[in-house]
Amino acid sequence: MLKELTSQRLEQPCVEVLNPATQESLGWLAADSLEQVESKIVAATLAQPKWAAQTAKYRSKLLRKWFDLIEQHQQDLALILTMEQGKPLSEALSEVAYGASFVEWFAEEAKRAYGVTIPATFDGKSIRTIKQPIGVCASITPWNFPVAMLTRKLAPALSAGCAMISKPAVNTPLCAIALRHLALEAGIDGELLPVVISEQASDVGLKFCTHPSIRKLSFTGSTAVGKQLMQQSSQQVQRVSMELGGNAPFIVFGDADINEAVAGAIVCKFRNAGQTCVCANRFYIHDSVYDEFAQKLHAAMSKLSLGAGVDGHDIGPLIDEKALQKVDQLVHAATLAGAELVCGGKVASDIGTLYYQPTLLSNVAHDNPVMKVEQFGPIAALCRFSDVDEAIHFANDTEFGLASYFFTQDLTLAEYVSNKLQYGIVGINEGIISTEVAPFGGVKHSGVGREGSALGLDEYLETKYIAVGGLR
Ligand code: ADP
Repeated sequence: MLKELTSQRLEQPCVEVLNPATQESLGWLAADSLEQVESKIVAATLAQPKWAAQTAKYRSKLLRKWFDLIEQHQQDLALILTMEQGKPLSEALSEVAYGASFVEWFAEEAKRAYGVTIPATFDGKSIRTIKQPIGVCASITPWNFPVAMLTRKLAPALSAGCAMISKPAVNTPLCAIALRHLALEAGIDGELLPVVISEQASDVGLKFCTHPSIRKLSFTGSTAVGKQLMQQSSQQVQRVSMELGGNAPFIVFGDADINEAVAGAIVCKFRNAGQTCVCANRFYIHDSVYDEFAQKLHAAMSKLSLGAGVDGHDIGPLIDEKALQKVDQLVHAATLAGAELVCGGKVASDIGTLYYQPTLLSNVAHDNPVMKVEQFGPIAALCRFSDVDEAIHFANDTEFGLASYFFTQDLTLAEYVSNKLQYGIVGINEGIISTEVAPFGGVKHSGVGREGSALGLDEYLETKYIAVGGLR
């Protein structure tokens, strides 16, 4: 009813943004129709060649200004992020800093889109390559990191000389709007970075994939949706970057520093209430240290406080009711299949509607359903192993291949295991692997392409080979 009234007042359909901590409304936004999406693509297509024709140094300067403004407004951005997404304010501040780091990094990288000169194979010829922007790009991003997932795509696209139309998740559109506002204040032409607000994700996705002006799609989200988008994009042989699901193993070998492993497990597992694609999803612990690790992890988990992100708690709400039900059902299925519930395992209804207790499951079999799917919730499921190759087999026994983690003091073992793990990212004695300077991305069903690092710029560039003959 309220939605209809607001839509009438706005004279177009609208979406409501809710605070997941309290279920209170943060406001209403006018939703874009497909005709409006078309107009934004046309405007971006007209604006992009002028942007591409500017020097890289010019683009770099504007991106740098954008970075400065994000830093200047980090407190406000973090508050918006916590209010619409739910994560603790301290984590929101870290995400804003992480998101800003891509803008800073790609402002610098903009000037380094080098081609190469290749020694010619015959006299009188020259062979070289240049890098050129792909053109107009599109991005679709999820709700779990509404700042960083966007800047990780938008900053390299803009620095390369592309335009990018973005569709943030409909639960968390405010960060995207705020970031765009700051980009405009920095002097970047707004037509280069339109934002689409829409609940019609599949229609907008189809338009992005099939619009002849859009030459590249960058998506972060579930594997199922990623596969659908790749299929749609294939019609016009569109370039794609796909950051899809994960099922990260976290292995603790017998010689590991257990206190470090527990500290790594806490940040890796419980950041953002377990709602990250690089979260530890399956713990494999060597028999010889299993009891010590389980006991220390339990003790550390019992110190985690649950509550609204703005109030300084460690774990905030899950994003919505569907996410909460999924986590609850998963814990139920895990215990039915033989896992022991050590703590948690319930909706924390005394705190609010969308909170789930940090949950520890012990003696979980490798083939328990909780080990097979991306949990996206505060569940730590521990499985025993007795042999290095058994742990590697367990870790690789999944269709996913994004992040993996292991703890050991043995350099030879570390070398062996990191070579054997079929993952795009390996963290050794480290629970946090994300940084703008390193390539982020997965193998197998976890995706295509890399974001961040020098490779992240190449995702938005075409290499043109120029052969010159007849030289005297
Ligand atoms: P999550 O489980 O993290 O919500 P999704 O893959 O469902 O992952 O969503 C990630 C992003 O993809 C969101 O912006 C969402 O609106 C969008 N999305 C969901 N379904 C589709 C679809 N069929 N086509 C295009 N985008 C979609």
